[in-house]
Amino acid sequence: MTQPIIEFENVVKRFGPVTVLDRLNFSVQPGEKVTIIGPSGSGKSTVLRILMTLETIDDGIVRVEGEPLWHEESGGELKPAGEAHLRHMREKLGMVFQNFNLFPHMTVRRNLTEAPRTVLGLPKAEANDRAEELLDMVGLVDQADKFPGQLSGGQQQRVGIARALAMRPKVMLFDEPTSALDPELVGDVLNVIRQLAEEHDLTMLLVTHEMRFAREISDRILFFDGGTICEEGTPATIFGEPKQERTREFLKAVL
Ligand code: ADP
Ligand code: MG
Repeated sequence: MTQPIIEFENVVKRFGPVTVLDRLNFSVQPGEKVTIIGPSGSGKSTVLRILMTLETIDDGIVRVEGEPLWHEESGGELKPAGEAHLRHMREKLGMVFQNFNLFPHMTVRRNLTEAPRTVLGLPKAEANDRAEELLDMVGLVDQADKFPGQLSGGQQQRVGIARALAMRPKVMLFDEPTSALDPELVGDVLNVIRQLAEEHDLTMLLVTHEMRFAREISDRILFFDGGTICEEGTPATIFGEPKQERTREFLKAVL
């Protein structure tokens, strides 16, 4: 096996008295497409938010490309990471949120060019070219001068995906990207994600309740329950012959 691109090792996350992640262990290989499923409150979003450095951890270690995320090595010791290290690590990942989280006061084009220009220092023309190419990929090239509020939810989410990709991340994180959408708008968003899943080099970690979609695009499924992985396996195993009673009950309820 090659070095995992993402590793969670005995990760503990608490919110006050509540233990949300309870010694969580898993890893993702480069290029792998992994889907997290599980009941509400099982810690799925927290995993993605920790990777984006939107939440800290209380114990354990998270690595991205073998480098500790929340810590950095100094003289053989691990110490809490400074802002520069976090920024460097964050650039490896792009996230798509359930509620889009676009910048409402910026045009679609500017949503895509802002971070590449300010964070990566890309010249304006290059950032614009990149935006154009990505908007074309998600089928929104004619919407570049609109504001997010003028678009449908499905269009906004496709902008969200394009905006994350504009940073050329190695890993794309999706947190229930279609669950805020009207049913008729889900398909276009899933088609964009499906297209990305065909890219060999891109690693994907996806949280979704779209079970048929998960089965189709994932290399591996992690079933979360109570802040740990209750069961994991290929889509064929998890959906076809789950071993744990809790997995069977969850699938019976959602399928
Ligand atoms: P999931 O995405 O699987 O539904 P989450 O990771 O969002 O679960 O949340 C896991 C648990 O952590 C839930 O019980 C939730 O209420 C709690 N939680 C999440 N974020 C916070 C927070 N900022 N403060 C307090 N509790 C939180
Ligand atoms: Mg969630």
